Amino acid sequence: MDQDEVQAQRPARVLLVQEDPRSAALIVEMLRAVWPDGLLITQAQNVADAAQELSEHGSTCVLVDLPGDTTRPLARLEALSLATPTTPIIALSRDEDEELAVAAVRAGAQDCLLESELTPAFLHRAVRYAVERKNSELELSHQALHDPLTGLPNRALLLDRLSVALDRSRRTGTAVCIQFLDVDTFKEINDSLGHAAGDRLLGELAERFSSLLRPMDTVARFGGDEFVFLIEGLDDDEEAMLVAERIRDAAAQPLALDGAHVTTAVSIGIAMITDPLTSIEEALRQADVAMYRAKEQGGSRIELAEPAPAQGAEAVPLGDVDLPATPPRPVAALTSLEQSLGQALRGGELRVHYQPRVSITGDTGLVGFEALVRWQHPERGLLGPDEFLELAEQTGLIVPIGEWVVEQALAQIRVWRRSRPGITISVNLSRHQLADRDLVQVLKDVIEASGVQPEALCVEVTEDTVQEDPETVTASLAALRRSGVSVAIDDFGTGHSSLQSLRGMPIDTLKIHQTFVAALDADPDDSGIVGAVVELGHALGLTVIAEGVETDTQLAHLRELGCDGAQGLLFSAPVPEADVLELLGTR
Ligand code: C2E
Ligand code: MG
Ligand code: MG
Repeated sequence: MDQDEVQAQRPARVLLVQEDPRSAALIVEMLRAVWPDGLLITQAQNVADAAQELSEHGSTCVLVDLPGDTTRPLARLEALSLATPTTPIIALSRDEDEELAVAAVRAGAQDCLLESELTPAFLHRAVRYAVERKNSELELSHQALHDPLTGLPNRALLLDRLSVALDRSRRTGTAVCIQFLDVDTFKEINDSLGHAAGDRLLGELAERFSSLLRPMDTVARFGGDEFVFLIEGLDDDEEAMLVAERIRDAAAQPLALDGAHVTTAVSIGIAMITDPLTSIEEALRQADVAMYRAKEQGGSRIELAEPAPAQGAEAVPLGDVDLPATPPRPVAALTSLEQSLGQALRGGELRVHYQPRVSITGDTGLVGFEALVRWQHPERGLLGPDEFLELAEQTGLIVPIGEWVVEQALAQIRVWRRSRPGITISVNLSRHQLADRDLVQVLKDVIEASGVQPEALCVEVTEDTVQEDPETVTASLAALRRSGVSVAIDDFGTGHSSLQSLRGMPIDTLKIHQTFVAALDADPDDSGIVGAVVELGHALGLTVIAEGVETDTQLAHLRELGCDGAQGLLFSAPVPEADVLELLGTR
């Protein structure tokens, strides 16, 4: 909708979410003054009423005030922007507070206005601009999620939907069916009739497939002549087979292309995912492998994927140490370790190692470090976090350990910034830490005591940590961001969050998990996942960093895909602080 259409959409509807009746009356008066030919103004005092109104009637724009008398002035705005992701929102603030205004925009508002500065004309213009801005935002994210040729969901959106579907299947125990389709005859058609004909064929197939499946199913264009179908609610292999046969038959209906009647043969691989621990990549891989088998047998065939190998075997990606299904260790065995972990903290056996993070958009350049905890065990030697963090998490010791790590990290960055101003330090926060109500205050205190700018600190949380308690975690992260700390989603791609749910989340950075980076070496086609994450991250205004970069090939691919930063053995392993000084050339 362009600016004039805001007015063209008669009557425009504005929803005002404002607690104070006097301010509300004032704003209503101003709105009336500038929309003489009718403006429907509705009012709500709380989010529930507002959401109800929006779901029933929609709105051209929402105006929401940021209450000054609470510790979470953005809570209402955040809830609203989740409830109505497509409606422009303008925040109204009572006090002049630049930080709050910026935070409001990050939390999903298109603008933040100071109530005392409002005039009718100003408000009028602000509403029109907000609508305009929202539309370009939506347009951008639509483009990022759809294939321009067929209008179908693209890879990024498919991965998102797949992750949501797998998540649902974990809760409900129902299977997720993935069908991977490749057009056998595509190359011949392209070669004999030209690319335009090829494009028309893809467009026609997209329509046929979409009309065949139910609206809740996903038909995605995965690449070239590959389509992927995501279907939930099928009972068994036979049902999946029936659907695939219908898809194959639909493709085979003759199509007139440049006077020629072509019939299209396709190969389909089906994976019925019933194991709740299957990852997105593994699910797709199974369907893909089955599709190849269908092709190898001469095409125009449908193949079912072999049952997945047992968990723990090849199918499990790296980094699954903290999957919820990991059986807890026996409590008795924990007790003595627990005692010694507590002693380790008090007795100075814990260490922090630092791994450089570099920017790869131009020349490779150091931009910061990630702090990674270690335990110098008197008998067992240097232990990695995988060997003791689970224990720390279960016993709650992670809270004081985490605090100690942040203190160390900030003390170091303070020194390092003298020779490299602007570099930042990242620390990891676990689910237990994020559940801790005092977290935000403790971090603020530690930052203050360190004498370092809050901007020097970045906190990393995994997707699953956020998913576990989205409200509390989001509020804590938003509060940290308001104070200047930045937020990264760690191990992105291994968890179960949806790309969609990232929208409006208080985050700055996505760190792509190393499994996806490793795959860049083996098969450049795997760059699709990394490329999709980079693209969507950028569409959402986020910085994207690759973890576990080990080879020049991976780095070259990442550069090509537009990834912003990287971390990994190619640059440096995590090292003790003394070695950092060497890295910085100050020693
Ligand atoms: P993470 O935050 O994803 O950290 C990256 C991990 O990848 C580190 O493992 C790092 O040593 C490893 N790594 C770095 N470069 C490469 C590479 O090129 N190839 C490969 N294969 N691996 C690479 P690390 O140090 O064992 O840490 C494991 C996890 O433990 C971290 O994953 C983080 O989630 C957690 N962790 C570490 N320190 C802390 C801490 O102080 N607090 C909390 N809550 N968690 C921590
Ligand atoms: Mg990390
Ligand atoms: Mg990571």
